[in-house]
Amino acid sequence: MKRDTAIFKLIKEELHRQTSGIELIASENFVSAQVMEAMGSVMTNKYAEGLPGKRYYGGCEIVDQSEQLAIDRAKQLYNAAWVNVQPHSGAQANAAVMLACLNPGDKILGFDLSHGGHLTHGSPVNFSGKLYKPSFYGVEKESGLINYDNVEKIALKEKPKMIICGASAYSRDWDYVRLRKIADKVKALLLADISHPSGLIARGILNDPLPHCHIVTTTTHKTLRGPRGGMIMMGQDFPNPWGLKTPKGEIKMMSAILDAAVFPGTQGGPLEHVIAAKAVAYGEALSDSFVKYGIQVVKNANIMANEFIKRGYQVISGGTDNHLMLIDLRSKNITGKEAENALVKADITVNKNMVPFDDKSPFVTSGIRVGTPAITTRGLKERDIPKIVDLMDMVMMNHTNEKKLAAVKKEVNKMMKQYDLFAW
Ligand SMILES: *Cc1c(COP(=O)(O)O)cnc(C)c1O
Repeated sequence: MKRDTAIFKLIKEELHRQTSGIELIASENFVSAQVMEAMGSVMTNKYAEGLPGKRYYGGCEIVDQSEQLAIDRAKQLYNAAWVNVQPHSGAQANAAVMLACLNPGDKILGFDLSHGGHLTHGSPVNFSGKLYKPSFYGVEKESGLINYDNVEKIALKEKPKMIICGASAYSRDWDYVRLRKIADKVKALLLADISHPSGLIARGILNDPLPHCHIVTTTTHKTLRGPRGGMIMMGQDFPNPWGLKTPKGEIKMMSAILDAAVFPGTQGGPLEHVIAAKAVAYGEALSDSFVKYGIQVVKNANIMANEFIKRGYQVISGGTDNHLMLIDLRSKNITGKEAENALVKADITVNKNMVPFDDKSPFVTSGIRVGTPAITTRGLKERDIPKIVDLMDMVMMNHTNEKKLAAVKKEVNKMMKQYDLFAW
């Protein structure tokens, strides 16, 4: 067959873009060569509806083993009693959990999207906001922090069936113990969506939700540094609270209900090539070097937040506990959109982001979100961070000056030449 030069030319260009720029999108990372090799393998050819040992197709003896390896490694990594590694993405993982735990019209309580929450936690444009009745908690205006007394007040008033914690743009750790107390008080299920910090949580760098939350979902491609995908976990299995029974008359365990909500509930065949790559990534995350990586990610983020503050930028909540920060640019007279566009011209990638109590639209926004997982994978350390913030400051303070932007781009390209895409 003729080589598809149109696509492979674009892949080459994308490789060049990733290699020559500074990647600060908090949800992105660079996978290792072996994660990519597993993803680009013949495992993609196999249909394997069902679970290892219980499939609807023949010829699953090998993918049974690789999926089981993924499951076993994920359990070890998170100290989980049960996991399902089949969700195609973080959104799919959340869809399956909600299908398993809620009926249409049930109330859910999530973290406000404009304060750092995620679309799948009840946004009106998402299935979660269309099928269920959402209410939201947010951060306090002065501190930029979640006030758990306030979460409790809203929970007592709204009596949701499910409380969702976890975020896409919250730079502080979560109090899962307190949230569980609140959930128990209103008899809600507590879901932690750790999509962003999951790699840091896996290796004990942040609080662990698994002992406290009923169900935990995550993506596998953010700080966890695996292939694009999702996963559902439980620290301990439990009988379903609605008294649903098996054909034999026994109370169904939550694990069985969640498995069924993934397939056939919301998905067809699992992506066995991606699951093989997940197994590789979990193996990498269990290594000593991944702990060092996680610690370096947080160190780099901390220094970056301080460098921004030193230059007069307003970092929401005044700093970070994890891998990211949210910067309110209103004091600097530039919108998130303008900042994102100018930075891209200098080969620095961030995303514009709503900040708490934003007065601009989601297409403009007053802020940017900045994260260190990707640059840390490339091997950037403490000493590199002030330089990066200098370059970003130069771009944002001269965002209409094309000459300055071109000069910064040159420096960025020169700087990144020294680093492999995957240094760990
Ligand atoms: C990224 C993210 C998701 C969605 O993951 P996708 O793989 O893009 O579907 C869900 N929840 C949170 C909190 C996230 O940050």
